[in-house]
Amino acid sequence: MASPHTRTPLAEQVDELLADGGPLPIVAAGDPVLRRPAEPFDGQLEPALLTRFVQALRLTMHAAPGVGLAAPQVGVGLRIAVVEDPAPVPEEVREARGRVPLPFRVLVNPSYEAVGTERAAFYEGCLSVPGWQAVVARHAGVRLRALDERGQAVDEVLSGWPARIVQHETDHLEGTLYLDRAEPRSLSSNDAMAHRWNQPTPERAARALGFELP
Ligand code: ZN
Repeated sequence: MASPHTRTPLAEQVDELLADGGPLPIVAAGDPVLRRPAEPFDGQLEPALLTRFVQALRLTMHAAPGVGLAAPQVGVGLRIAVVEDPAPVPEEVREARGRVPLPFRVLVNPSYEAVGTERAAFYEGCLSVPGWQAVVARHAGVRLRALDERGQAVDEVLSGWPARIVQHETDHLEGTLYLDRAEPRSLSSNDAMAHRWNQPTPERAARALGFELP
């Protein structure tokens, strides 16, 4: 057990953040913490604090609600993210987007690389850019490498929506927001999404708003 004297500034920050209990405040675009590459996790948080932090990330993700949350989104510059998607969507959406359930998992120091050359373009949003969504063409398949919360190696190939979620969250840890990769002309308010662009694919939006799909 670490003594208070050996605690890192990040541990102090996280301890303070967790003091209130409940969901953590989510940092919005414009905060530099979302634009800095996060520090690789290397034991800056002692095991008990890491466990509590991961629980708080999960609680915050559920409360938002969202299907992924990266530590910088709560102001903590560490390469840690959580993902979980029960995928409560109609069958036609599941088929078009490959949106299959993704069980809860913790990604520590994740990285990904493309598997194949296929790209998939769909609307996505970000808890740090509230109120908006845009189309992002992403690798249809990726190889994910990471550690889990116990330090066990993760090495697996993902496709469909789980691949999208992992790319979005890992990008956060590099200081990249989905808008950096988005088709600018696709940008739509949540209201426009609900009333105009709720089809399983963004083809109608592409024709009406004037952007290209891969
Ligand atoms: Zn995001």
